[in-house]
Amino acid sequence: MSDALLPPIGMLAELTHRCPLQCVYCSNPLELLKADKELSTEAWLALFEEAADLGVLQIHLSGGEPTLRPDLEQFVSCLARRGVYTNLITAGVGIAEGRIERLRDAGLDHVQLSIQGAHAPTTEKIGNNRGAHEKKLETARRVVELGLPLTINAPIHRHNIEEVPAFIDLALSLGAERLEIANVQYAGWALLNRNALMPGREAVERQVEIVEEAQSRLRGILAIDFVAPDYFAIYPKACMGGWARDAFMVAPDGTALPCHAAGTIPTLHFERFGDRSLTDIWVNSPAFNAFRGDGWMLEPCRSCERREVDWGGCRCQAMAIAGDAAATDPACIRSPLHSRMATLIGEANSVSDADDFRYRRIGRA
Ligand code: SF4
Ligand code: SF4
Repeated sequence: MSDALLPPIGMLAELTHRCPLQCVYCSNPLELLKADKELSTEAWLALFEEAADLGVLQIHLSGGEPTLRPDLEQFVSCLARRGVYTNLITAGVGIAEGRIERLRDAGLDHVQLSIQGAHAPTTEKIGNNRGAHEKKLETARRVVELGLPLTINAPIHRHNIEEVPAFIDLALSLGAERLEIANVQYAGWALLNRNALMPGREAVERQVEIVEEAQSRLRGILAIDFVAPDYFAIYPKACMGGWARDAFMVAPDGTALPCHAAGTIPTLHFERFGDRSLTDIWVNSPAFNAFRGDGWMLEPCRSCERREVDWGGCRCQAMAIAGDAAATDPACIRSPLHSRMATLIGEANSVSDADDFRYRRIGRA
């Protein structure tokens, strides 16, 4: 590995696209992979061994719903043996009795549970799954009882933005250590449902005040992370800490990508683990090198003092809004296309509040 390129810190392993929920904000790709395309147990184990060799320190076991993989305990146990920190990202629905205990005993370090609404009707509407809310709360209780650290992930959009105070109360009552108030990123199914999900500006401003007040009031009791909504921002976020810089992800079929939406960039070709080693992909893949560092940047990023802060923002958002993955992220006020964000907010807010949802389904984009 070259001196300039460090090993990745984190890896998101999307073990499967199967999921009992059909969330309208899901960031999975529109073309979801069926079970027969998923890597085998042996292939995932080999991949995790290589990830540890490469220097990955933490692996997020995600999906879809990762607990649908019966071999999850084997993955956790392999990673624990290699000293890699494991975080289970789960919808918390349909987890069999005794499963969380087995995962803890295998060495699982942390659980991140997504909750779609602070109240049952919202969770059930957004995830299109009756009874999901109660099952999630039960999962949260089991995780805490077993002594595993719990993060509640609350993906925020127009249909639950007024529930932010109730999300804070819920996280406290469940004994969570951390709450993520994560405004939806418009990729995958969320991009398809953007008009139905986009909140109004006043609601966003109220939300920021509520979160800031709670962060200071609950310091030392509940850590609250805030993922700001890009469309309302003046500067973009450093997506994934910069393209192929700190982290990457692996899709259920072993395809390695710098981020979960990178497959929407049609000029890039992404390689699969098995055809090439993870190390070779990390170091040499043309797709990983396409937007690494700042050498690819055009103006205004090229001469911007923030270019090593946000790395030009999100390449997939540039693709989705500017139609050019090499453009400055339109979330940035210095982008010539920044005003398009306000136009898109206005267009979304002018459509009726009806639940015109396209639910995430395998084979039904
Ligand atoms: S966002 Fe919803 S549908 Fe998508 S993987 Fe998570 S729980 Fe499943
Ligand atoms: S011009 Fe580019 S580097 Fe500068 S703040 Fe905007 S996106 Fe970031």
